[in-house]
Amino acid sequence: MSYVCGRSSNRIVHRNDCRYVKMIPVKNRKFFATAEEARAEGYSCCKYCSHIWRYVEKEKDALDAFCSKNGLVYSFNRTDGFLDIDSRQDRWKIIVNGKKHHIFLYHRNTKINLKPERTLVPGFHGQKTISPTVLGYLKYISGHDEYVEELTKAHKKKSKPVKGTKRYWKMVRREQKGVRRKQIRNVLEIIDRISEDSYMREVR
Ligand SMILES: [Zn+2]
Repeated sequence: MSYVCGRSSNRIVHRNDCRYVKMIPVKNRKFFATAEEARAEGYSCCKYCSHIWRYVEKEKDALDAFCSKNGLVYSFNRTDGFLDIDSRQDRWKIIVNGKKHHIFLYHRNTKINLKPERTLVPGFHGQKTISPTVLGYLKYISGHDEYVEELTKAHKKKSKPVKGTKRYWKMVRREQKGVRRKQIRNVLEIIDRISEDSYMREVR
């Protein structure tokens, strides 16, 4: 597979079997061996010939229905060629990897950086879940949101300290910084990272 782009101002690179390649005059075509090379020269990815968009197109109606019901938004990222997903609580990416073009879910890192060098997606870590469809991952993400929301609620329910006491002011300060929520996220992320280890061993 080679990658082609035209010498025009839109600077978009296509796979050589993309329908848009036909519209680029042969003399204007520029070839790359890998998509990474083109990206290094500042080209962005064509949505329509990306592997991830092929998944999306197959499931489009179901995805749109699920997203509007559950407060998720997905979009193609022209810079990295992945699918961005903003959920109610977090940010995710679905990437295509391997010769069989399987899809994998990545979750945005919050504060801690346990093993940044291991990830294919800077700032994100692989999530321990496997789905053959994008919809399967969106369901997982929505479930993850619900879990975070439940934990946040449970934390808030804890008996409130009496006004004016040391514990009360401690709580006020902590709430101002939003630490509670971050703590929960950090714990979730530690769990993710630990399970990711055994998961990556299985996949490789
Ligand atoms: Zn294309």
